[in-house]
Amino acid sequence: MEHWVRAAKEWIRSRSLPDARTGQPVCAFVYDLAGLRRHAAQTVEALPSFCHMYYAMKANSDKELLRVIRPHVRGFEAASIGEVRKALAVDSQVPVIFGGPGKTDEELREALQLGVERIHVESLHELRRLSYWSKELGREITVLLRVNLKVELPQATLQMGGRATQFGMEEADLDQAAALLSDSPHLRMAGFHLHSISNQLDAEAHLLLLECYIERAKAWNKLFRMEQITINAGGGIGVNYSDLERQFDWRLFTNGLRRLEKIHSLPDGPELRIDFECGRYLTAFCGVYATEVIDVKSNHGKTFAVVRGGTQHFRLPVSWRHNHPFDVLPVESWPYPYERPEAANYSITVVGQLCTPKDVFAEEVSVSRIRSGDIVLFALAGAYGWAISHHEFLSHPHPEMVYWKES
Ligand SMILES: *Cc1c(COP(=O)(O)O)cnc(C)c1O
Repeated sequence: MEHWVRAAKEWIRSRSLPDARTGQPVCAFVYDLAGLRRHAAQTVEALPSFCHMYYAMKANSDKELLRVIRPHVRGFEAASIGEVRKALAVDSQVPVIFGGPGKTDEELREALQLGVERIHVESLHELRRLSYWSKELGREITVLLRVNLKVELPQATLQMGGRATQFGMEEADLDQAAALLSDSPHLRMAGFHLHSISNQLDAEAHLLLLECYIERAKAWNKLFRMEQITINAGGGIGVNYSDLERQFDWRLFTNGLRRLEKIHSLPDGPELRIDFECGRYLTAFCGVYATEVIDVKSNHGKTFAVVRGGTQHFRLPVSWRHNHPFDVLPVESWPYPYERPEAANYSITVVGQLCTPKDVFAEEVSVSRIRSGDIVLFALAGAYGWAISHHEFLSHPHPEMVYWKES
Protein backbone atom coordinates (compact mmCIF):
# COMPACT_ATOMS: atom_id res chain seq x y z
CA MET A 1 0.00 0.00 0.00
CA GLU A 2 2.76 2.39 1.03
CA HIS A 3 4.08 3.34 -2.42
CA TRP A 4 0.60 4.10 -3.77
CA VAL A 5 -0.02 6.73 -1.11
CA ARG A 6 3.46 8.17 -0.60
CA ALA A 7 2.84 11.40 -2.50
CA ALA A 8 -0.34 12.06 -0.54
CA LYS A 9 1.55 11.60 2.73
CA GLU A 10 4.29 13.96 1.57
CA TRP A 11 1.72 16.57 0.69
CA ILE A 12 0.01 16.28 4.07
CA ARG A 13 3.36 16.59 5.84
CA SER A 14 4.30 19.61 3.73
CA ARG A 15 1.22 21.65 4.47
CA SER A 16 1.24 23.73 7.60
CA LEU A 17 -1.30 22.44 10.06
CA PRO A 18 -4.38 24.60 9.84
CA ASP A 19 -5.47 26.58 12.83
CA ALA A 20 -7.32 23.98 14.82
CA ARG A 21 -10.27 26.28 15.44
CA THR A 22 -10.78 27.74 11.98
CA GLY A 23 -9.14 25.35 9.54
CA GLN A 24 -11.17 23.21 7.18
CA PRO A 25 -10.71 19.47 7.53
CA VAL A 26 -8.44 17.84 4.96
CA CYS A 27 -10.31 16.70 1.87
CA ALA A 28 -8.38 16.42 -1.37
CA PHE A 29 -7.54 14.45 -4.44
CA VAL A 30 -3.76 14.24 -4.48
CA TYR A 31 -2.25 13.34 -7.85
CA ASP A 32 1.31 12.07 -7.93
CA LEU A 33 2.40 13.58 -11.24
CA ALA A 34 5.95 12.18 -11.07
CA GLY A 35 4.52 8.72 -10.46
CA LEU A 36 2.07 9.15 -13.32
CA ARG A 37 4.88 10.20 -15.66
CA ARG A 38 6.95 7.12 -14.73
CA HIS A 39 4.03 4.73 -15.02
CA ALA A 40 2.87 6.10 -18.39
CA ALA A 41 6.43 5.98 -19.74
CA GLN A 42 7.07 2.40 -18.57
CA THR A 43 3.71 1.16 -19.77
CA VAL A 44 4.10 2.55 -23.26
CA GLU A 45 7.80 1.70 -23.61
CA ALA A 46 7.05 -1.97 -23.01
CA LEU A 47 4.76 -2.16 -26.07
CA PRO A 48 6.12 -3.65 -29.30
CA SER A 49 6.30 -1.24 -32.21
CA PHE A 50 3.19 -2.51 -34.03
CA CYS A 51 1.13 -1.39 -31.02
CA HIS A 52 0.11 2.16 -30.11
CA MET A 53 -1.28 3.58 -26.90
CA TYR A 54 -3.96 6.24 -26.66
CA TYR A 55 -5.31 7.57 -23.38
CA ALA A 56 -9.07 7.18 -22.83
CA MET A 57 -9.89 10.60 -21.40
CA LYS A 58 -13.14 9.62 -19.72
CA ALA A 59 -11.19 7.91 -16.89
CA ASN A 60 -9.92 11.34 -15.84
CA SER A 61 -9.82 14.36 -18.14
CA ASP A 62 -8.10 16.73 -15.70
CA LYS A 63 -5.84 18.88 -17.84
CA GLU A 64 -2.86 18.60 -15.48
CA LEU A 65 -2.95 14.83 -15.94
CA LEU A 66 -3.49 15.13 -19.68
CA ARG A 67 -0.39 17.32 -19.90
CA VAL A 68 1.73 14.72 -18.11
CA ILE A 69 0.41 11.83 -20.19
CA ARG A 70 0.54 13.60 -23.56
CA PRO A 71 4.25 13.06 -24.39
CA HIS A 72 4.03 9.34 -23.68
CA VAL A 73 1.01 8.30 -25.74
CA ARG A 74 0.26 8.42 -29.43
CA GLY A 75 -2.90 10.44 -28.74
CA PHE A 76 -6.12 10.79 -26.81
CA GLU A 77 -9.36 8.87 -27.13
CA ALA A 78 -12.39 11.11 -26.73
CA ALA A 79 -15.93 9.91 -26.06
CA SER A 80 -17.72 13.22 -26.70
CA ILE A 81 -17.06 16.43 -28.56
CA GLY A 82 -16.41 18.01 -25.15
CA GLU A 83 -13.49 15.63 -24.66
CA VAL A 84 -12.25 16.34 -28.20
CA ARG A 85 -12.13 20.05 -27.32
CA LYS A 86 -10.37 19.38 -24.01
CA ALA A 87 -7.77 17.24 -25.78
CA LEU A 88 -7.05 19.96 -28.35
CA ALA A 89 -6.88 22.61 -25.63
CA VAL A 90 -3.98 20.69 -24.05
CA ASP A 91 -2.21 20.22 -27.39
CA SER A 92 -3.70 21.48 -30.64
CA GLN A 93 -1.64 18.90 -32.56
CA VAL A 94 -2.52 15.81 -30.54
CA PRO A 95 -4.06 12.96 -32.55
CA VAL A 96 -7.61 12.46 -31.27
CA ILE A 97 -9.68 9.38 -31.93
CA PHE A 98 -13.38 9.85 -31.37
CA GLY A 99 -15.77 7.10 -30.29
CA GLY A 100 -18.94 6.48 -28.33
CA PRO A 101 -22.54 5.55 -29.16
CA GLY A 102 -25.07 8.24 -30.05
CA LYS A 103 -22.83 10.82 -31.69
CA THR A 104 -24.98 13.71 -32.93
CA ASP A 105 -24.67 15.26 -36.40
CA GLU A 106 -23.27 18.33 -34.70
CA GLU A 107 -20.58 16.27 -33.01
CA LEU A 108 -19.68 14.51 -36.25
CA ARG A 109 -19.46 17.82 -38.12
CA GLU A 110 -17.32 19.48 -35.47
CA ALA A 111 -15.03 16.44 -35.24
CA LEU A 112 -14.55 16.57 -39.03
CA GLN A 113 -13.87 20.30 -38.93
CA LEU A 114 -11.43 19.99 -36.04
CA GLY A 115 -9.56 17.30 -37.97
CA VAL A 116 -9.68 14.37 -35.55
CA GLU A 117 -7.46 11.49 -36.56
CA ARG A 118 -10.18 8.85 -36.68
CA ILE A 119 -13.81 8.21 -35.90
CA HIS A 120 -15.01 4.92 -34.45
CA VAL A 121 -18.36 4.22 -36.08
CA GLU A 122 -20.93 2.50 -33.90
CA SER A 123 -23.79 1.66 -36.30
CA LEU A 124 -24.81 1.58 -39.96
CA HIS A 125 -26.91 4.70 -39.44
CA GLU A 126 -23.90 6.52 -38.02
CA LEU A 127 -21.84 5.35 -41.00
CA ARG A 128 -24.46 6.77 -43.40
CA ARG A 129 -24.51 10.08 -41.54
CA LEU A 130 -20.73 10.32 -41.46
CA SER A 131 -20.57 9.50 -45.15
CA TYR A 132 -23.07 12.29 -45.84
CA TRP A 133 -21.37 14.92 -43.69
CA SER A 134 -17.84 14.13 -44.82
CA LYS A 135 -19.00 14.70 -48.41
CA GLU A 136 -20.96 17.86 -47.54
CA LEU A 137 -17.97 19.35 -45.75
CA GLY A 138 -15.40 17.98 -48.18
CA ARG A 139 -13.42 16.37 -45.35
CA GLU A 140 -11.79 12.98 -45.57
CA ILE A 141 -11.77 10.89 -42.43
CA THR A 142 -10.37 7.53 -41.38
CA VAL A 143 -12.85 5.20 -39.72
CA LEU A 144 -12.82 2.05 -37.66
CA LEU A 145 -16.02 0.01 -37.43
CA ARG A 146 -16.94 -0.89 -33.88
CA VAL A 147 -18.17 -4.47 -33.81
CA ASN A 148 -20.00 -6.23 -31.00
CA LEU A 149 -18.47 -9.69 -31.30
CA LYS A 150 -20.30 -12.96 -31.04
CA VAL A 151 -17.97 -14.72 -28.59
CA GLU A 152 -17.82 -15.94 -25.03
CA LEU A 153 -15.84 -13.25 -23.26
CA PRO A 154 -13.66 -13.90 -20.24
CA GLN A 155 -15.02 -12.86 -16.85
CA ALA A 156 -14.43 -9.20 -16.07
CA THR A 157 -16.26 -6.53 -14.14
CA LEU A 158 -18.08 -4.99 -17.09
CA GLN A 159 -18.82 -6.41 -20.51
CA MET A 160 -19.43 -4.11 -23.45
CA GLY A 161 -19.73 -6.83 -26.07
CA GLY A 162 -20.38 -10.52 -26.63
CA ARG A 163 -23.98 -9.89 -25.53
CA ALA A 164 -26.74 -7.36 -26.20
CA THR A 165 -25.42 -3.84 -25.48
CA GLN A 166 -25.74 -0.38 -27.03
CA PHE A 167 -22.19 -0.65 -28.42
CA GLY A 168 -21.09 -1.31 -31.95
CA MET A 169 -22.69 -3.10 -34.87
CA GLU A 170 -23.35 -6.78 -35.39
CA GLU A 171 -20.91 -8.90 -37.34
CA ALA A 172 -23.79 -9.53 -39.75
CA ASP A 173 -23.92 -5.77 -40.54
CA LEU A 174 -20.41 -5.77 -41.98
CA ASP A 175 -21.57 -6.70 -45.50
CA GLN A 176 -23.72 -3.60 -45.65
CA ALA A 177 -20.99 -1.50 -44.04
CA ALA A 178 -18.57 -2.59 -46.76
CA ALA A 179 -21.07 -1.60 -49.46
CA LEU A 180 -21.64 1.80 -47.83
CA LEU A 181 -17.91 2.40 -47.54
CA SER A 182 -17.26 1.63 -51.18
CA ASP A 183 -19.80 4.37 -52.01
CA SER A 184 -18.23 6.89 -49.63
CA PRO A 185 -15.22 8.53 -51.25
CA HIS A 186 -14.42 10.62 -48.15
CA LEU A 187 -14.25 7.68 -45.75
CA ARG A 188 -11.07 5.63 -45.42
CA MET A 189 -11.71 2.26 -43.84
CA ALA A 190 -8.80 1.34 -41.57
CA GLY A 191 -10.03 -1.52 -39.38
CA PHE A 192 -12.10 -2.52 -36.40
CA HIS A 193 -12.78 -1.32 -32.91
CA LEU A 194 -13.38 -4.10 -30.41
CA HIS A 195 -13.37 -2.70 -26.87
CA SER A 196 -15.39 -5.46 -25.21
CA ILE A 197 -14.54 -5.72 -21.53
CA SER A 198 -13.49 -3.64 -18.60
CA ASN A 199 -11.25 -4.33 -15.62
CA GLN A 200 -9.56 -7.40 -17.05
CA LEU A 201 -6.97 -8.56 -14.52
CA ASP A 202 -5.73 -11.68 -16.30
CA ALA A 203 -3.03 -11.00 -18.90
CA GLU A 204 -3.19 -14.51 -20.41
CA ALA A 205 -6.96 -14.29 -20.86
CA HIS A 206 -6.57 -10.89 -22.47
CA LEU A 207 -4.02 -12.26 -24.93
CA LEU A 208 -6.47 -15.01 -25.91
CA LEU A 209 -9.10 -12.36 -26.52
CA LEU A 210 -6.68 -10.40 -28.68
CA GLU A 211 -5.89 -13.47 -30.68
CA CYS A 212 -9.61 -13.91 -31.28
CA TYR A 213 -9.82 -10.23 -32.39
CA ILE A 214 -6.99 -10.77 -34.87
CA GLU A 215 -8.56 -13.89 -36.35
CA ARG A 216 -11.94 -12.23 -36.76
CA ALA A 217 -10.44 -9.08 -38.24
CA LYS A 218 -8.54 -11.09 -40.83
CA ALA A 219 -11.69 -13.02 -41.76
CA TRP A 220 -13.74 -9.80 -42.07
CA ASN A 221 -11.04 -8.30 -44.23
CA LYS A 222 -12.28 -10.46 -47.12
CA LEU A 223 -15.03 -7.83 -47.39
CA PHE A 224 -12.72 -4.83 -47.14
CA ARG A 225 -9.37 -5.91 -48.64
CA MET A 226 -7.28 -3.57 -46.51
CA GLU A 227 -3.50 -3.77 -46.81
CA GLN A 228 -3.07 -2.65 -43.24
CA ILE A 229 -5.64 -3.64 -40.62
CA THR A 230 -5.86 -1.58 -37.46
CA ILE A 231 -7.45 -3.36 -34.55
CA ASN A 232 -8.38 -1.09 -31.71
CA ALA A 233 -8.46 -3.47 -28.77
CA GLY A 234 -9.92 -0.77 -26.53
CA GLY A 235 -8.97 -0.29 -22.91
CA GLY A 236 -10.18 -2.55 -20.17
CA ILE A 237 -6.82 -3.40 -18.60
CA GLY A 238 -7.81 -3.85 -15.00
CA VAL A 239 -6.70 -2.52 -11.65
CA ASN A 240 -6.89 -4.86 -8.69
CA TYR A 241 -8.62 -2.97 -5.87
CA SER A 242 -8.78 -5.93 -3.49
CA ASP A 243 -5.23 -7.27 -3.72
CA LEU A 244 -3.01 -4.30 -4.40
CA GLU A 245 0.22 -6.16 -4.92
CA ARG A 246 -1.27 -8.42 -7.60
CA GLN A 247 -1.84 -6.15 -10.56
CA PHE A 248 -2.28 -6.94 -14.26
CA ASP A 249 0.98 -8.45 -15.54
CA TRP A 250 1.84 -5.87 -18.19
CA ARG A 251 5.27 -7.39 -18.88
CA LEU A 252 3.78 -10.82 -19.59
CA PHE A 253 1.09 -9.18 -21.72
CA THR A 254 3.50 -7.16 -23.86
CA ASN A 255 5.74 -10.20 -24.37
CA GLY A 256 2.65 -12.10 -25.48
CA LEU A 257 1.90 -9.34 -27.99
CA ARG A 258 5.33 -9.90 -29.57
CA ARG A 259 4.46 -13.58 -29.89
CA LEU A 260 1.13 -12.72 -31.53
CA GLU A 261 2.86 -10.47 -34.02
CA LYS A 262 5.18 -13.31 -35.08
CA ILE A 263 2.33 -15.77 -35.49
CA HIS A 264 0.06 -13.44 -37.40
CA SER A 265 2.33 -11.45 -39.67
CA LEU A 266 2.49 -13.36 -42.92
CA PRO A 267 4.55 -11.98 -45.81
CA ASP A 268 1.56 -11.93 -48.19
CA GLY A 269 -1.04 -11.04 -45.54
CA PRO A 270 -2.20 -7.58 -44.47
CA GLU A 271 0.00 -5.63 -42.09
CA LEU A 272 -1.28 -5.59 -38.56
CA ARG A 273 -1.50 -2.65 -36.18
CA ILE A 274 -2.97 -2.86 -32.71
CA ASP A 275 -4.14 0.21 -30.84
CA PHE A 276 -4.99 0.41 -27.17
CA GLU A 277 -7.00 3.15 -25.55
CA CYS A 278 -6.51 2.61 -21.83
CA GLY A 279 -8.06 4.78 -19.19
CA ARG A 280 -8.11 3.06 -15.82
CA TYR A 281 -4.72 1.37 -16.13
CA LEU A 282 -2.93 4.63 -16.94
CA THR A 283 -4.36 6.95 -14.28
CA ALA A 284 -5.82 4.86 -11.43
CA PHE A 285 -2.54 4.47 -9.55
CA CYS A 286 -1.52 8.13 -9.42
CA GLY A 287 -4.50 9.42 -7.41
CA VAL A 288 -5.37 9.37 -3.72
CA TYR A 289 -8.54 10.67 -2.15
CA ALA A 290 -7.38 11.98 1.22
CA THR A 291 -9.99 12.90 3.78
CA GLU A 292 -10.17 13.65 7.47
CA VAL A 293 -12.14 11.62 10.00
CA ILE A 294 -14.83 13.78 11.58
CA ASP A 295 -16.50 11.28 13.88
CA VAL A 296 -16.16 7.72 15.11
CA LYS A 297 -19.20 6.05 16.63
CA SER A 298 -21.00 2.75 17.02
CA ASN A 299 -24.57 1.66 16.67
CA HIS A 300 -26.38 -1.64 16.31
CA GLY A 301 -23.10 -3.50 16.66
CA LYS A 302 -21.20 -1.67 13.91
CA THR A 303 -18.54 1.03 14.17
CA PHE A 304 -18.49 3.90 11.70
CA ALA A 305 -15.81 6.39 10.79
CA VAL A 306 -17.48 9.42 9.20
CA VAL A 307 -15.10 11.33 6.93
CA ARG A 308 -15.20 14.77 5.32
CA GLY A 309 -16.67 14.58 1.81
CA GLY A 310 -18.26 11.41 0.55
CA THR A 311 -19.15 9.44 -2.48
CA GLN A 312 -20.26 12.66 -4.21
CA HIS A 313 -16.48 13.17 -4.60
CA PHE A 314 -15.49 9.57 -5.04
CA ARG A 315 -18.28 7.36 -6.33
CA LEU A 316 -16.14 4.47 -7.54
CA PRO A 317 -16.62 2.16 -4.51
CA VAL A 318 -20.40 2.58 -4.60
CA SER A 319 -20.54 2.19 -8.34
CA TRP A 320 -18.52 -1.03 -8.22
CA ARG A 321 -19.90 -2.21 -4.89
CA HIS A 322 -16.45 -2.89 -3.51
CA ASN A 323 -14.54 -2.06 -0.37
CA HIS A 324 -12.11 0.57 -1.47
CA PRO A 325 -8.54 0.06 -0.18
CA PHE A 326 -7.35 2.69 2.30
CA ASP A 327 -4.68 3.51 4.83
CA VAL A 328 -5.13 5.49 8.02
CA LEU A 329 -2.61 8.29 8.51
CA PRO A 330 -2.43 9.04 12.22
CA VAL A 331 -2.50 12.71 13.22
CA GLU A 332 -1.26 13.18 16.77
CA SER A 333 -2.38 16.72 17.40
CA TRP A 334 -5.65 17.03 19.33
CA PRO A 335 -5.88 20.53 20.81
CA TYR A 336 -9.39 20.22 22.19
CA PRO A 337 -10.43 19.84 25.84
CA TYR A 338 -13.03 17.17 25.03
CA GLU A 339 -12.57 13.48 24.45
CA ARG A 340 -11.25 12.23 21.12
CA PRO A 341 -13.47 9.55 19.57
CA GLU A 342 -11.54 6.49 18.47
CA ALA A 343 -11.77 2.79 17.75
CA ALA A 344 -8.86 0.37 18.07
CA ASN A 345 -8.41 -3.13 16.64
CA TYR A 346 -11.83 -2.92 15.24
CA SER A 347 -13.81 -3.59 12.17
CA ILE A 348 -14.76 -0.21 10.73
CA THR A 349 -17.21 1.01 8.12
CA VAL A 350 -15.96 4.18 6.44
CA VAL A 351 -18.70 6.54 5.31
CA GLY A 352 -19.01 10.13 4.07
CA GLN A 353 -21.15 13.11 5.01
CA LEU A 354 -24.12 12.38 2.76
CA CYS A 355 -27.56 11.73 4.22
CA THR A 356 -27.93 8.35 2.57
CA PRO A 357 -26.95 4.92 3.84
CA LYS A 358 -25.39 4.29 0.42
CA ASP A 359 -22.57 6.74 1.13
CA VAL A 360 -20.12 3.98 2.02
CA PHE A 361 -16.48 3.61 0.93
CA ALA A 362 -15.60 0.39 2.72
CA GLU A 363 -17.56 -1.88 4.98
CA GLU A 364 -16.33 -3.71 8.08
CA VAL A 365 -12.63 -3.51 7.38
CA SER A 366 -10.31 -4.15 10.25
CA VAL A 367 -8.00 -1.29 11.28
CA SER A 368 -5.52 -1.07 14.12
CA ARG A 369 -6.75 2.37 15.17
CA ILE A 370 -8.79 5.22 13.78
CA ARG A 371 -9.54 8.49 15.52
CA SER A 372 -11.36 11.66 14.82
CA GLY A 373 -8.76 13.95 13.19
CA ASP A 374 -6.82 11.10 11.53
CA ILE A 375 -6.70 11.09 7.74
CA VAL A 376 -7.98 8.27 5.56
CA LEU A 377 -6.07 7.79 2.32
CA PHE A 378 -8.01 5.98 -0.38
CA ALA A 379 -5.51 4.61 -2.90
CA LEU A 380 -6.10 3.95 -6.62
CA ALA A 381 -8.40 6.96 -6.92
CA GLY A 382 -6.90 8.51 -10.07
CA ALA A 383 -9.34 6.96 -12.55
CA TYR A 384 -13.15 7.05 -12.43
CA GLY A 385 -13.02 8.89 -9.10
CA TRP A 386 -13.91 12.58 -9.25
CA ALA A 387 -14.67 12.12 -12.96
CA ILE A 388 -17.74 9.93 -12.40
CA SER A 389 -19.11 11.55 -9.24
CA HIS A 390 -22.18 13.72 -8.66
CA HIS A 391 -20.36 16.72 -7.21
CA GLU A 392 -23.28 18.95 -6.29
CA PHE A 393 -25.31 16.43 -4.33
CA LEU A 394 -25.89 17.97 -0.86
CA SER A 395 -23.81 21.06 -1.71
CA HIS A 396 -20.81 20.21 0.43
CA PRO A 397 -17.54 21.91 -0.52
CA HIS A 398 -15.52 20.34 -3.31
CA PRO A 399 -12.22 18.65 -2.47
CA GLU A 400 -8.94 20.41 -3.06
CA MET A 401 -7.10 19.24 -6.20
CA VAL A 402 -3.41 18.76 -5.45
CA TYR A 403 -0.88 18.09 -8.19
CA TRP A 404 2.19 16.76 -6.39
CA LYS A 405 5.30 17.03 -8.52
CA GLU A 406 8.09 15.89 -6.20
CA SER A 407 9.44 12.43 -5.27
C1 LIG B 1 -14.24 3.42 -21.28
C2 LIG B 1 -13.62 3.10 -22.55
C3 LIG B 1 -12.23 2.90 -22.65
C4 LIG B 1 -11.33 2.93 -21.46
O1 LIG B 1 -11.58 1.84 -20.65
P1 LIG B 1 -10.67 1.51 -19.39
O2 LIG B 1 -11.34 0.35 -18.78
O3 LIG B 1 -10.67 2.72 -18.53
O4 LIG B 1 -9.31 1.20 -19.91
C5 LIG B 1 -11.70 2.66 -23.89
N1 LIG B 1 -12.47 2.61 -25.01
C6 LIG B 1 -13.81 2.78 -24.94
C7 LIG B 1 -14.60 2.72 -26.19
C8 LIG B 1 -14.43 3.02 -23.72
O5 LIG B 1 -15.75 3.17 -23.68
